[in-house]
Amino acid sequence: MKEAILPDGTAITAAEDAPSEAICPQCSGVLLLRQRRTMKKSVVAFYWRHTSNQNLNCKARRRPTGGR
Ligand SMILES: [Zn+2]
Repeated sequence: MKEAILPDGTAITAAEDAPSEAICPQCSGVLLLRQRRTMKKSVVAFYWRHTSNQNLNCKARRRPTGGR
C-alpha cells in the first residue's frame, strides 16, 4: 500500500525519504518500507508491506477487486 501512519498519527506516503517502519491504518500492524523497480529500470516504486506472516486477514493486504 502507499499510505501508512506514524506512531503519532501522522499519515505518511511511501517514498524514498519515509521512515523504514510505520503502522498499518487498517490493522495497526507493523509495516516496513520496501522498494521495487518498475518496468522502467530507472524508476523505483516505494510501498509499505506488512512484516512477514502478520495480519494475514488485514484488508489492506488485498487489492480491492474491480478497482478500475
Ligand atoms: Zn494491516
